[in-house]
Amino acid sequence: MISVEEALDKVLSYVEVLEPERKPILDCLGQVLAEDVYSTIDIPPLDNAAMDGFALRAEDICGVGESSPVYLAVIGEVAAGSMPTKDVEPGTAIRIMTGAPLPKGADTVVQFENTDEITRKSSNGDLSQIGILRQANKGLNVRNRGEDIAKSNLVLEKGRVLRPQEIGVLASIGCSAALVIRRPTVAILATGDELIDVDQPLAPGKIHNSNTYTIAAGVSRYGGIPKILGIGRDSIQSLTEKIDEGLDADLLITSGGVSKGDYDMVKDVLVERGEIGFWTVCMKPGKPLAFGVMKKMKRGRKGQLPHLGLPGNPVSSMVTFEQFARPAILKMMGKKILKKPVVQAVIEDDVIAADERRRFIRVYVTKCRGQYHASITGNQGSGILTSMAKANGLAVIPENSNGAKAGDKVEVQMLDWEEEQGEVKTWPIVSIVGRSESGKTLLVEQLITEFKRRGYKIATLKHSHCGEIEIDQPGKDTWKFAQAGSDTVCISSPRKLAFIKKSDHDFRADEVLPIIGNEFDVVLVEGFKRSNLPKIEVHRKELGDDLLCSPEELSAIVTDGSLETPLADNYKVPILSWSDTAAIADFIEKNFVLNR
Ligand code: AMP
Ligand code: MG
Repeated sequence: MISVEEALDKVLSYVEVLEPERKPILDCLGQVLAEDVYSTIDIPPLDNAAMDGFALRAEDICGVGESSPVYLAVIGEVAAGSMPTKDVEPGTAIRIMTGAPLPKGADTVVQFENTDEITRKSSNGDLSQIGILRQANKGLNVRNRGEDIAKSNLVLEKGRVLRPQEIGVLASIGCSAALVIRRPTVAILATGDELIDVDQPLAPGKIHNSNTYTIAAGVSRYGGIPKILGIGRDSIQSLTEKIDEGLDADLLITSGGVSKGDYDMVKDVLVERGEIGFWTVCMKPGKPLAFGVMKKMKRGRKGQLPHLGLPGNPVSSMVTFEQFARPAILKMMGKKILKKPVVQAVIEDDVIAADERRRFIRVYVTKCRGQYHASITGNQGSGILTSMAKANGLAVIPENSNGAKAGDKVEVQMLDWEEEQGEVKTWPIVSIVGRSESGKTLLVEQLITEFKRRGYKIATLKHSHCGEIEIDQPGKDTWKFAQAGSDTVCISSPRKLAFIKKSDHDFRADEVLPIIGNEFDVVLVEGFKRSNLPKIEVHRKELGDDLLCSPEELSAIVTDGSLETPLADNYKVPILSWSDTAAIADFIEKNFVLNR
């Protein structure tokens, strides 16, 4: 077995940085600049206004204030995109818009808000003059020619990765096409007699080919151009034919057929067609990995085609893609940073078993008060792609370790970087633990009192090991917490959850539903007669025939009296017998039970 690092070094030693190409800047996103770019112009090209206001001479408004304005003659106006036709002379100002060239003679722009223009306009006053209400230092609100980019300066150096901002800089200097390292074409071949394409119906013993799609999406994500070769069958002939179609690519990625099974032919093709490097890499998932170079026997560019044979299991295939194909693609694109971003995170779950291989565990990383936390996203089987879909990182558990325990710090390779993370955990939560009789409960009570004194709103959560839980019973911990002032008191056990939330708000039934959860088929409410929920009223003969609800509010009436009750005349709804529970249930089932 070779290490992940050795395998990666080997892969990288076979791929080269590709040639440059010149193309429209918008097609260059994520590509590496292959030449130094100099500007042939100044940006901005002229001194101009950074605010809407009046262009003037700072010395003309020296010492002015709201109670001692200076009045200047307004001799013109200049908008963005046009040139001033007059110069600013002493005692004059030119009205100017943001981005408009600064008139000769002016050295400062005073924004409208610091003039009396609004007052003049609202009182139909004289606009041939302007009162300046605030003094300004020379140069205020003026953007100087060349202050961003000076003509003939180096703007972007060779090797820069073009992001939206670099593409914007190129546009600003009038550069519509850039010389960049070209994107690698990556031929992708899935292998296996069991595979069926996504748009075909499944047949017995068959599965959809997902690897091609995961790999192609990964190729695009990292800047390459996927060339899909489809599905090769488990025969040397089929694989050879398919591979021939991909010989003009820069990299060939196959998936499957590299383990020790009888039909794992990819390695046989490699032996026949190229130089093989066939390894077992010290990692899990992803132990079997083939790497070699295919000799090009057909059309296509000179040289050899590097071939990465990924394992077939969907997660193994993706994890090895991230470890080996991604850096190879990035290297070909001229990128210098090939490693995935990593963070140190506290792992929230045990990764128990010892293993001689390095493990990549699918985790979801969140950040809480500056600390990253990683929780395992579920079944780690190498065929379970959904736990990969739930993950935003791969926790790396070193080879020959005993695994990790919840609370240990581990390195996590981020599949998505921080900006793409989900919600950040910010629960203000702390757990008071100790042996039985250590005084935990009393401490919690005292803390509640103390925090109440400090004006906080508090919830307490108690765990009970026995399934039966009591809440609000004198003497019980939850009762003590409530007495001490806790606003909400929860208790959970392996079988139940209960809580009492102090509230000045009289909850409506529909407000309670989001709190209790939405996994129910039907919610039976008792009371809430003023709500606008559908209602069934219970009628008791000895209490008289006056009902609580009006006819239009009711869906049915349940009575212990005769079903022929005179009520039936006023209420045109079903009348059901109090003793016929089944009939009442049928009615509710038909009308209200959620039809899943
Ligand atoms: P192999 O390495 O060819 O023995 O494949 C290992 C496992 O991965 C088998 O269960 C295959 O069915 C599965 N597998 C191989 N290729 C694909 C693919 N393209 N899409 C989904 N599963 C695959
Ligand atoms: Mg196979």
